[in-house]
Amino acid sequence: MPPSMPRVRIPLSLPHTSRAVVPSARPQWLAQRAYGTVVDGPVTQSKPATTFEKALTATAPRHNWTKEEIKEIYDTPLMRLAHAAGAVHQKFHDPAEIQMCTLINIKTGGCSEDCSYCSQSSKHDTGLKATKMIQVGTVLAAARVAKENGSTRFCMGAAWRDMRGRKTNLKNIKEMVKGVKDLGMESCVTLGMIDLEQAKELKDAGLTAYNHNVDTSREFYPSVISTRTYDERLQTIANANEAGLSVCTGGILGLGEEAKDHVGLLFTVATMPTHPESFPVNTLVPIKGTPLGDREQSPFDITLRTIAAARLIMPKTIIRLAAGRTILSEEQQVLCFMAGANAVFTGEKMLTTACNGWEEDNRIFAKWGLRPMQSFQTGKEEGASAPMREGAEKKSQIELSSSHVSFPLNLFKPLAIMDSNPPEVNYDYEATLADRKYFFNINDTTFIKRTLRRSEWMYGLTGNLVVPSTTLRYRLENEAACLKYLVSTSIPIANLLGIFQDDGAVYLMTKHIDGVSMCHLEPEQKSIVKKELEGYLNILKSLRSTTPGIPGTKFICPHYRFFRGWREMSVWKVKDNIEGMTDELVFCHNDLGQHNVIVDPNTLKIKAIVDWEFSGFFPSWFEAAFWEKPGPANDVGDEDRLREWLVKWCDEVETTWPSAWLTQMKKPIDEEKEEESSVSTDVVMTGLTSPPPTPTT
Ligand code: SF4
Repeated sequence: MPPSMPRVRIPLSLPHTSRAVVPSARPQWLAQRAYGTVVDGPVTQSKPATTFEKALTATAPRHNWTKEEIKEIYDTPLMRLAHAAGAVHQKFHDPAEIQMCTLINIKTGGCSEDCSYCSQSSKHDTGLKATKMIQVGTVLAAARVAKENGSTRFCMGAAWRDMRGRKTNLKNIKEMVKGVKDLGMESCVTLGMIDLEQAKELKDAGLTAYNHNVDTSREFYPSVISTRTYDERLQTIANANEAGLSVCTGGILGLGEEAKDHVGLLFTVATMPTHPESFPVNTLVPIKGTPLGDREQSPFDITLRTIAAARLIMPKTIIRLAAGRTILSEEQQVLCFMAGANAVFTGEKMLTTACNGWEEDNRIFAKWGLRPMQSFQTGKEEGASAPMREGAEKKSQIELSSSHVSFPLNLFKPLAIMDSNPPEVNYDYEATLADRKYFFNINDTTFIKRTLRRSEWMYGLTGNLVVPSTTLRYRLENEAACLKYLVSTSIPIANLLGIFQDDGAVYLMTKHIDGVSMCHLEPEQKSIVKKELEGYLNILKSLRSTTPGIPGTKFICPHYRFFRGWREMSVWKVKDNIEGMTDELVFCHNDLGQHNVIVDPNTLKIKAIVDWEFSGFFPSWFEAAFWEKPGPANDVGDEDRLREWLVKWCDEVETTWPSAWLTQMKKPIDEEKEEESSVSTDVVMTGLTSPPPTPTT
């Protein structure tokens, strides 16, 4: 396809109820949809969305937080907060991936600063012996060990105030950075205050990230440190940012601060022009001899709350469980991972304090289905992982527009990050809606739509879980059967590549079609297309059957306009006895809007008619002329007649209620096939000429 040619917007160019998304604004058509069961209350309410609800449905980071908004999120009841954070985490990250970092002290003790928690300050009598900076070779040997044990980021810390007058040290540190990079690891340094020039030198040496914690809120900060101001810290962070380095900046819990200081800490980092690439959450490890040596351990719920709130307000940032992890139980750590933490320090030691070891972490990872994040998945932009950044570059803003709503969908996450060893795939973008997921133009050949897995169910504006229509799987089967049936006709279609189930999701794969939707054409262009379309409609009408539906299938998937104001969207089956049916049955698309007609923009020839989920043999009056005007397939006034016909000749067999879902989804789809149960045996799990590949999502 020439680069200038617009991509096909096959299924999303116009909304209809089967493609309802959970948007940041509440469209009327979402409230009207006939399917989708909401657990514990309605999806929509008349009151405006709260800050919490907006954060839950956000599709991108925001930077204009107020303290009041962050407080609202931070104060959310903890279980609700943690669940919401988990949902946001799944949207922006692979929840199975944890970044493993190893931190080494390259220069210990003797620091002129007076950070009241730190054993390395020369102001405190902790018995720690100051040392000179260790050799480059020693550091790289430690990096090698870390790599062999699974760490992908190697962090180097020096106990001093700043880098002024440390030319030789800087030269050696750059050697270390280069050596770490040559090992294929990400590098991070924490060297106190640096200016822009030093930051640039480090960047040029190959440094990935610069760590400089703000520690706590601006207000509480003077109670912790007196030798360096908050603004000096922010300046160093700004320098690192300007030099193009990723920034790692976080805080310490348990310094004697209050909840408002956790809010203040989050406010500082969440309102930075670029959210930190990583946000370490430390809890104080009290060290004898420091002013805070006798403090009690910060309670776990504060750690969890801070992590969860951070995940909601900085959705793309990596959140690191840092100092103090050793006192957390395995289950507490896992709870943190579920609420959005996705990085740990691991290894023999963490600066001067104990650290959870690789062996222990590997055991926990294996047990809980976690795996180390690969190197260089992190980057500067908003903490986004590298594949996500690439996806963002590729992303197209898909505008859903109607008289009710216009908003972008930009939930893009490439397939590649979903598996540690994925096949190579490229595609234009993906989109997740309330009941399905689309992958557009995979490797320039393939289009996929699939049902959502349980872990992908979305939350409504009030935070309630939206259970997607369980009948989509039947509609996908119906479409597959239709495409198989029509392939021998002259109707232009996107050829079926396969339908199958993988890990609880039913996939429909078809050929990708380049072109534009008819709805995007000018009126005179549409007239030309309409003429050709009418020819195809005549061909469809010439096809005949004596049985409703698609030959070889057992189900009828009525269009959603059957159900509005009547009942939940459901699947039907033709009655055993249809003697007496006098209707002439012709092939109907049943959702033939302009958005489902893909046209070559140069020749105006129809390249494909798509989206055959509701198709089959029905009385010719089923085929409403949705192609006459742009917009969704709304009611046309004959719905009572449609329902009457349906009830007369068909029985309802599957609704969208959760109980039905539970019953139906207990058995894998292929088992059902073997048992010749009510699932269509003709189309389930078929891959046409060869078995379909198993996508990694
Ligand atoms: S600047 Fe770093 S090393 Fe120095 S006292 Fe503060 S925390 Fe410790």
